[in-house]
Amino acid sequence: MNEESLLAFRNVSFSYDGDEGQRVPVLKSVDLTIEKGTFVSVLGHNGSGKSTLAKLMNALLLPEDGVILVSGFDTKDEEMLWEIRRHVGMVFQNPDNQIVGATVEDDVAFGLENMGVDPQEMRKRIDEALLSVGMEKYLMAQPHRLSGGQKQRVAIAGIMAMRPSVIILDEATAMLDPQGRQEVMMLARRLNREEGITIINITHFPEEAVFSDRVTVMNAGEVLMEGSPHDVFSQVERLQSAGLDVPFSVRIRYALAAKGIHLPFVLHQEELVEHVCR
Ligand code: ADP
Repeated sequence: MNEESLLAFRNVSFSYDGDEGQRVPVLKSVDLTIEKGTFVSVLGHNGSGKSTLAKLMNALLLPEDGVILVSGFDTKDEEMLWEIRRHVGMVFQNPDNQIVGATVEDDVAFGLENMGVDPQEMRKRIDEALLSVGMEKYLMAQPHRLSGGQKQRVAIAGIMAMRPSVIILDEATAMLDPQGRQEVMMLARRLNREEGITIINITHFPEEAVFSDRVTVMNAGEVLMEGSPHDVFSQVERLQSAGLDVPFSVRIRYALAAKGIHLPFVLHQEELVEHVCR
């Protein structure tokens, strides 16, 4: 692992207990390195082991075999558990399960209260976190009145307030409408680019992986591919063997490249239109 590696899986295997007491293998010999400051997508079909991988990343689960290092700390080291959890924030799929406060302010304060942060520092961090997710006007709002995308942004603010080095989005857009998905993805991209937060976006939507720095494709508990979006999405047959399609925007990109029009990898149709019409 080089100095800049934030997260490293070394030959990690994991199984769950089956109904009849047997162990059911879910991850097999996973090797994965995530560098500090990168935007990484972990892409895979349902059941390929992505969520298990995410839970291993912040020590919600521990590896059966192999080692997982977060900023050089072994996730099996119980003394480092809270430090690891503070560094690795997780946003889950269902926004309603993550909101605990009666107001947005209470919700963002929750983690800080648990950490024993003093009130003055807490005030500052809540304001900063809400500003960084664009929810500063909703300080006193009741979370249940917000849209799905706004709720996920509040959940991300709660994590930002704890000053993490990495945020894992575990299918965080799966229950959102297209606008909510776009809000959360744009926010994740901005937090990565402007605030240097490492983002690990766990998703089954190939389109979301397009603008990542690196893409890891999981299939049946193994890493099938790892590389830049271009490396991964140009291997159409391997991608299809994992039950995944080449994203629409990438197909358009390749079709245009064949006609001599070269585009960067893009996520949103508006950006695509902008490039094509330029
Ligand atoms: P993904 O996030 O890619 O959908 P998961 O990591 O959730 O994949 O699941 C991988 C496999 O592990 C699936 O076959 C799933 O049924 C199984 N699995 C997940 N959680 C549990 C659990 N708590 N107990 C037993 N099996 C589980």
